[in-house]
Amino acid sequence: KQTIVGVIGLGSMGLGMAQTLAGKGFETLGFDLSDERKALAEKSGVVPVNGIADAFERSTFLVFSLPTAKDVASVVNDHIDTLKNRHGDRVIIIDTSTSEPDVSRELALRLNALDHGFLDAPVSGGPGGAASGKLTMMIGGAEEDVALARPVIEAMAAKALHVGPSGAGNVAKLVNNLLAAAHMITTKEGLKLAFSAGLDPEAALRVLNAASGRSMISEVHFPTWIMSNTFNSGFSMGLMRKDVRLARELAARTGVNLPVADLVAELWADAAELEDKDDFTRMGDFQTSK
Ligand code: NAD
Repeated sequence: KQTIVGVIGLGSMGLGMAQTLAGKGFETLGFDLSDERKALAEKSGVVPVNGIADAFERSTFLVFSLPTAKDVASVVNDHIDTLKNRHGDRVIIIDTSTSEPDVSRELALRLNALDHGFLDAPVSGGPGGAASGKLTMMIGGAEEDVALARPVIEAMAAKALHVGPSGAGNVAKLVNNLLAAAHMITTKEGLKLAFSAGLDPEAALRVLNAASGRSMISEVHFPTWIMSNTFNSGFSMGLMRKDVRLARELAARTGVNLPVADLVAELWADAAELEDKDDFTRMGDFQTSK
């Protein structure tokens, strides 16, 4: 019997993941609130469904790519009865959304009680990584569920790191994105300093990328989307603001003091000229920003 994978959320990331799964031979069902996104998925061999219930009834694996933890929890809540009716037929949700550790833990407990599985499996690598099946995935959840989901995970991710129990994947992702958010600001400030001191920012960037000041932001995002003034990485300001806010909330809950993270979060939240729908690489625009 062919494995059926249902992808819920066909946005910048979900569309690429669904296309990748379909391209690798999984029978892939796709749902998004937007008909336009479903139509795009259909062009690559994804079978669009009319409602999430359809995907919940038929899939063995459900891949979520939704904006926030709230969206993830409400999709599960709305369809929990479908999962109850599938008792004995284990369904595993692979939640690739950047969500919240506590929400993931709670959902995993609820699904485990129904003999289903839930993995928090957020990703890094952008829409390009999703479309090429080369994401990095950080996974929290039960070993047996990771083992069962391995073929689906490996179809989407070149690197899949199982980092701990439920919630651990989300913690890892928030730490990663806090650093990416900081690198965006520190790299911008470095290039502003270079320019104001008479050094060509292109030359400064070449140096950083051959020396110890580099990061993926300096190696990929600056050359591809910032120096070129294209600003179309496919990751929005609003989603990065969510991530830094969640990282800061996590720090507050655990009682750890992170002064730089506090400042980074404020800078992302306060960049009033940038709207949530803008691409997050605009935050690195060292030429026009003050
Ligand atoms: P997006 O806004 O492009 O896509 C989200 C999609 O979910 C939209 O198409 C929306 O219509 C759909 N949606 C919302 N609620 C829904 C529901 N109840 N049912 C079905 N569809 C629903 O966002 P994205 O950039 O694809 O990001 C998705 C998740 O992945 C986010 O949590 C984000 O933080 C994370 N992420 C994004 C990137 C990136 O580079 N874009 C990278 C890593 C992680």
